[in-house]
Parts: sequence; C-alpha cells; structure tokens
Amino acid sequence: MINTKFINIDPDNIDMEKLKIAADILKNGGTVAFPTETVYGLGANALCEEAVKKIFKAKGRPSDNPLIVHVSKLEDINELVLEISEKAQIVMEKFWPGPITLIFKKSDIVPKIVTGGLDTVAIRLPSHPIARKLIKLSGVPVAAPSANLSGKPSPTKEKHVTHDLMGRVDAIVCGGDTEVGVESTVLDLTSNVPMILRPGGITKEDLQEVIGKVETDPAILSKVESNLVPKSPGMKYTHYSPNAEVILVDGRIEEVVKVINKVKKEKECEGYKVGVMATEETKDKYFGENIISLGSRKDLKTVAANLFKVLREFDEKRVDIVLAETFEEVGIGQAIMNRLMKAAGYNVIHA
Ligand code: AMP
Ligand code: MG
Repeated sequence: MINTKFINIDPDNIDMEKLKIAADILKNGGTVAFPTETVYGLGANALCEEAVKKIFKAKGRPSDNPLIVHVSKLEDINELVLEISEKAQIVMEKFWPGPITLIFKKSDIVPKIVTGGLDTVAIRLPSHPIARKLIKLSGVPVAAPSANLSGKPSPTKEKHVTHDLMGRVDAIVCGGDTEVGVESTVLDLTSNVPMILRPGGITKEDLQEVIGKVETDPAILSKVESNLVPKSPGMKYTHYSPNAEVILVDGRIEEVVKVINKVKKEKECEGYKVGVMATEETKDKYFGENIISLGSRKDLKTVAANLFKVLREFDEKRVDIVLAETFEEVGIGQAIMNRLMKAAGYNVIHA
C-alpha cells in the first residue's frame, strides 16, 4: 500500500510550486495520475523501465498492452522515433496539441516494456495545461495509459481516479473534469494508407480533410464479427466495463425504447436491478427508476464526455444490468460506439 499524495491544482491558474512536487516524483521514478483533455492518465518516466513497471502493477494491466508516451513539445519526439513521414508532419501540425496519438517506428532509447515488445511507439502531445506543464517540468517523456484499474471505464473525474488508484500510486494531481471524455484517436502512420486503430476525439472525417484516404481497422468497428484481431494490442481486451452487465439495443429509436421497456420489466420481474442509459430525447419514455441520460442525440460531444461517468454511476447505484441505446457511427459517434460495444462485450439486441 502506497501513501498516495493528493495535489490540487486549478487548471486556469496553475500553482507551479505544487506542480513541481508531482514533476519531481515523475523525475525520480514514481507514478503520478494527472488530467489530460481526453481522460486522466497514470504517468511514469517512459525512459526508465523500473518506473514503467509500476504503471502496469498499479493498473493490473497485461504486459503486452503498450503505453502512449506523452511529450510537451514537438521537438521532444525526435529522440524517440526513427523517422517522421510527411503525413505525420501534417497531422502533428494540424492536431497537436490535442486528442490524437500517432504510431512511429521506435528508436533504441524507448524501452520495450513501454511498447509491449513492439518495434513501434505511440506518442501524443496533450493540450491540457496541467498535463503539458507537468511533462515539461519533469524533463522526461511520460508514459501514461488511462488512470483506471485495467478493464474499468476510463476516469474523467478526480473521484474516479481516487476510487481506482488510491494506495496504488505515488500521487494524484486533481485538476477537475476532463473535456473530451473518451481516449485519444490512435492513428498508425507506418503503413501506406494511414489507419485508425482506435477511434477518438479526432475523427476520421477530420483526418481525411488533411491527409486524404484514411482506413479504420476493421476489427474495431462494431458491425463486424468479433473474431478479427485488432492491430492495436489494447483493443483486444475487455474494456470500459462497469460491474453491471451492459446490453446494447440497436434499431430505430422508437423500437429501441419499446424493447428496452419490455426487457427492463422482464428482468426486474426476475429480481434484477436494471438501469437504462438513455438520451435527453428518450429519458422520459422509460418506466421506473435508474434511468440516466447521456445528453442530447444532437450533441454527441457531450454524450462522449459523459459516457464513462455514467457507466460508473450505474455501479454506484449497484444495478445488475444496463440497457443502452446505440448511436450513429459518424464523427465522434464512432468512438462512442467502439467504447459501448466493448463495455457490452458485443452483446447487442436488435430491436
Ligand atoms: P490507454 O493509454 O490505456 O488508452 O491505452 C493505449 C492504447 O494505445 C492501447 O489501445 C494500445 O493498444 C495503443 N497503443 C500503444 N502503443 C501502440 C503501438 N505501438 N501500436 C499500436 N497500438 C498502440
Ligand atoms: Mg486505458
């Protein structure tokens, strides 16, 4: 059991003295959870094998699931990669700092523990002011997966990090709620046609505007059989799962509402506590208790920002089953459906 230090920092008025305490822990081989614009991350010095091991231990993360290395300025990637393609240069200039991670061929200084044994390394330059200043002050590249226990929904609030990692990490920087709410887009630029390995805050449409054709790894789309092996090692694990069983109900929204009400009633008769992950447009159409809205269907950014928080709220309510509506897979809807499908273990009822 580690005596976890809590460091409160206002992102709009950063106390550099306090942030330096966290930066020194990183520099000296410790683990620090901190906010980014996507979700909270759990960081350690990416160039120090012993430090990185502590991340895997704290999260209970499988060792073949590679970490994303975070930097505070563009030049910092030069020592970490073998080459930077023209398309990579364009994407970095357009979307960094921001919620997109790029895959490069790794240089020798990146330890294999960071990349799960792969010859490639995932790198991101985050835009959150606390994340950037913390990485800069630490003076090292920071390997940081999401700051949750492996398999649980990613943390978007301080209390989620505390719940999962208190006593398991050296420090938690508390800096308010995260903005995007789903993890970064992961884009592989080592292949001829760039490929999205994980959908996220920067959408396929955003990318195609600046680099032309972009593919999505077929294994991560919700409409395929789940026996395809994803190219991004992390995407093969069960993820984002609350304790409750999640079931998606897909179809025309009027039919979805009917089916959810019917299944809810049946399951409640059998003695289960059933929650419904609804939207502003539908929340008043469901019977009974434990109905939580993700936001309006017209504002998918808000739906994404609320997704993991709402999954955790069902756990707080101790529901046994969550029945969830689906979303159209366009724009950030791709990221929402990818996370929902994984939370549900591909368990879908067609209404
Ligand atoms: P997390 O930081 O917890 O959001 O997880 C990092 C994600 O990035 C996982 O899905 C990894 O599989 C992916 N990732 C990290 N490094 C690589 C890499 N070299 N190649 C492909 N995917 C990667
Ligand atoms: Mg994660």
